[in-house]
Amino acid sequence: MLYHAHEHFVLSRTPIFICAFSSCHRLFPSRDRLIAHRKRDHSTEDGENHVITWNE
Ligand SMILES: [Zn+2]
Repeated sequence: MLYHAHEHFVLSRTPIFICAFSSCHRLFPSRDRLIAHRKRDHSTEDGENHVITWNE
């Protein structure tokens, strides 16, 4: 139960950006980090589409 409480705290207080491009699904702590990953690994600067996030 303690583990789940901690997990909920982290998920509810930390912005998380998920790369939904293709089947990548990598997690990043900020939009800037995700965009940098897009440029490097997907050769695209499209930072608006294929992003899953919450608590932004
Ligand atoms: Zn990606």
